[in-house]
Amino acid sequence: MADCIFCKIAKKEIPSDIVYEDKYTLGFLDIKPVSLGHTLVIPKTHAETLDKLNENTLGSLIAAVQKISKAINKISEGYNVIQNNKEVAGQVVHHAHFHIVPRKSGDGIHWERPNPKFSEKQLREIVDKIKQNLTN
Ligand code: AMP
Ligand code: ZN
Repeated sequence: MADCIFCKIAKKEIPSDIVYEDKYTLGFLDIKPVSLGHTLVIPKTHAETLDKLNENTLGSLIAAVQKISKAINKISEGYNVIQNNKEVAGQVVHHAHFHIVPRKSGDGIHWERPNPKFSEKQLREIVDKIKQNLTN
């Protein structure tokens, strides 16, 4: 997509600190890292969100995420893999991507995880709704 910053990075029209590349995917450092080595992994073709990726692209992408994660795991104590979809979920760049965030003890990074309670009825209903909306 012409005005997509990650498409431009994929086409090397704008520079990035590339850590991994194959035919379908690119891994590069986040410009505003949460920790040293914070890496973004993108498909080279444009899709806005994870659900819009075709299966082959997603397969290559997740394989690249694991490959880079293995490298990061060797040089850190742990890592988070994060993937935001749509603005409400914190997506700022509308080209699907995974974040890999290297972690070490005492790094002060905290993901907010609220823990609301739901009724048994609500739980049964949401299970049904998700199942009804599964498609191939
Ligand atoms: P998200 O909130 O999941 O959409 O995350 C988008 C990420 O892209 C943010 O962490 C930004 O710091 C990062 N980002 C935006 N522009 C660039 C860029 N030109 N190079 C590297 N990372 C970028
Ligand atoms: Zn794009």
